[in-house]
Amino acid sequence: MTRVLVVGGGIAGYCAALAARRDGAEVTVVARAPGATALYAGAMEIVDDLDSVLRSPYHPLARLGMDAVGLATELDGAISTLQLALGKEGLRLEGGWRSRGLFADIHGLARSANVVPDSVAPGELGALSGKRVAVIGVPEVGDYDATSTAQALKELHGIEAFAEDISIADLPQGAALTDLYGRRAPAPRARGAAIAYPPGFTNLPADGFELLASPPSPHGWRLQQAISLGAVAAQVMSFESARGRITAARAASRAFHADAFVLATGRHIGGGLQAGRTTTEPLLGLGVFHEGVPAAGLGTRLHHLKYLSAAEEMVLGVMTDKRLHPLSEEGTVPYSNLYAAGAVLGGYEYSGPCGFGVPILTGWLAGRFAARQE
Ligand SMILES: Cc1cc2nc3c(=O)[nH]c(=O)nc-3n(C[C@H](O)[C@H](O)[C@H](O)COP(=O)(O)OP(=O)(O)OC[C@H]3O[C@@H](n4cnc5c(N)ncnc54)[C@H](O)[C@@H]3O)c2cc1C
Repeated sequence: MTRVLVVGGGIAGYCAALAARRDGAEVTVVARAPGATALYAGAMEIVDDLDSVLRSPYHPLARLGMDAVGLATELDGAISTLQLALGKEGLRLEGGWRSRGLFADIHGLARSANVVPDSVAPGELGALSGKRVAVIGVPEVGDYDATSTAQALKELHGIEAFAEDISIADLPQGAALTDLYGRRAPAPRARGAAIAYPPGFTNLPADGFELLASPPSPHGWRLQQAISLGAVAAQVMSFESARGRITAARAASRAFHADAFVLATGRHIGGGLQAGRTTTEPLLGLGVFHEGVPAAGLGTRLHHLKYLSAAEEMVLGVMTDKRLHPLSEEGTVPYSNLYAAGAVLGGYEYSGPCGFGVPILTGWLAGRFAARQE
């Protein structure tokens, strides 16, 4: 049986573990701490336009060398397996990569998504049109204002929204949204309206839905809890290798030996990339690229680009071949049994329309390639 070690406990590492186990591998996941997955707003963006993805030569999904039909088939498999697995952990997701909707956050601002938790799904803005929407406020909570959310829903999206404050007497002084986490949703007085709750409550009524979050995010925290079961808490400090293959990942107190390794260490929040004068990949010194050019060689031009737009930093990352083997700065494959997945990869907009699509699909494929040692 192939032994696969996945480094990273975010959504990419989880999908890699799912796929590798499905292919019969013995999988260990090592994670230092929650990363960006635990902060996501609650709106999974998978992909908007496969053809435009395939036209971007450095996009991680284009680099897989598949056509639109191949990518679509893999997305179907990855998303449905993920939905099934998370459903078993009690986290039900609705939607699919082919559907898209708009969902409001706690400020009433809209974000588009392909897949959302079932507690968010009824708040799709198109589905709310023509309905009255009660936005629940909690006067004891200082960092959220239902009146301004209702006003934004009205002005920005034409929704007939109004605020309804419900006091929760046993909240601590100076309470914040995080203090609502895990509490039972209070019942509103308004009748016959859809009910928008700030995220975090449980047991929502039939007409209730949760708004999207800004960090810290109850949606992210629930997802992180659902995917963390069974992961070993440890920080990989280095790898051992021989003759172009990784043999072990070393943490402070132990070594993890395996036949194949998946690097799903995330971007700056996860710790997979380190920003500095030059952005680097800290564990193996893999190449970090900006539009196909090693970042280290771009010198001051990249600094100027980053000065003009912070987004330039967010497209930097590791580059892979068709089998998700990460490349060295010289463009060669340094380790034949190493695969990379998720936000550690560059070439796409981290907070754009593939925010979850890249981690899910590259994680899924990296897990499969690792299990088969392709
Ligand atoms: C605030 C915020 C909100 C977002 N909201 C959305 C959204 O609503 N929709 C959307 O589509 N996208 C969103 N994104 C983007 C999305 O969350 C990320 O792209 C995605 O979660 C990345 O997943 P990942 O598994 O690649 O990385 P992470 O989730 O960052 O996971 C990396 C993992 O690697 C581990 N790790 C790193 N180094 C080591 C090491 N040396 N040893 C052991 N473990 C290690 C980390 O501890 C962590 O567990 C958001 C991002 C942010 C920051």
